[in-house]
Amino acid sequence: MNLPALPTTVIGSYPRPKWLREAISLHKNGRIAKDELQEAFNDAAVAVMRDHQIAGIDVPTDGEVRRDEMVEFFAERMKGFKFYGPVRVWGTAYYRKPSIVSKVEYGQPMLVDEVQFTKNISYTPYFKVTITGPYTMAYWSYNEYYRDRKEMVFDLAKAINSEIRNLVSAGAQIIQVDEPAIHSTPEEVEWAVEAVNESVKGINAKLMIHICYGDYKIIAPYLNEFKVDQINFALKIYNYKPLKLFKEIGYEKEIGAGVIDVHNRNVETEEEVYKDIKRLMEYFPMEKIWINPDCGLKLLPRSIAFSKMVSMVKGVEMVREELKKTGALSK
Ligand SMILES: [Zn+2]
Repeated sequence: MNLPALPTTVIGSYPRPKWLREAISLHKNGRIAKDELQEAFNDAAVAVMRDHQIAGIDVPTDGEVRRDEMVEFFAERMKGFKFYGPVRVWGTAYYRKPSIVSKVEYGQPMLVDEVQFTKNISYTPYFKVTITGPYTMAYWSYNEYYRDRKEMVFDLAKAINSEIRNLVSAGAQIIQVDEPAIHSTPEEVEWAVEAVNESVKGINAKLMIHICYGDYKIIAPYLNEFKVDQINFALKIYNYKPLKLFKEIGYEKEIGAGVIDVHNRNVETEEEVYKDIKRLMEYFPMEKIWINPDCGLKLLPRSIAFSKMVSMVKGVEMVREELKKTGALSK
């Protein structure tokens, strides 16, 4: 891949433009048709891609603008799921938690249209496509069918594998499997990692996994077992403390380092990002480091999400400039 040193990327999601949120609610109330909503989704993907381009992101996404939520979207499209209604997750926040009520199987393409559209609007062939992984799909669903949880997760992995194959055929060159829940249950981690590997088996693309908030000590011993090129982590929020742990376990893959706190509306300065990257480089060789925010930017106001991307890219550029001066980078 023809990417600069310390490639910059995003984790996936980006704030939906306000007008898209309004179009979605108009559609729910029957006031605009499905094809009109589709047009709004397409326009929003273009707007997000353009934000990524202006900020200078090397590996952009479409902001996952078509997805309300990372489990629901896929559960609605796979065989074996049923929705009863919203459940309260915290305070007054609700989400539609799906139930698994029969054998999970691949039903229909889920992101193929999205990939084809993204490919047409992307300013680079190296756009990233994200898909929720098998363990997180299972963890955030009710199980009313499987006696064996492991069997459920492996059926999900097979369905996800079918989809990823189709995404690569449609032109995706970089695939990220999102597994924020993978370190939620210590006694299941070992086979959860095997299930993720099953989901990416035989895929000819650059493969990444996203793991974020939680106790990295649980997943650390298994990190090198993942059959992917890169794992990207939330690190800024932990003040980079997990780096020592990763070093101790002999972590050897590419690391996508979170240098932007997505839960804090204060925008990091470019100098702060520069210093953080220098710290990363004390632990890992430059060739193995990618730079990204800790997690998806979706919950931030759009202007703040954009400013954070700009600071991230400028901080990376400061490091690149310095490396050029010292001769560590040719140009
Ligand atoms: Zn995350």
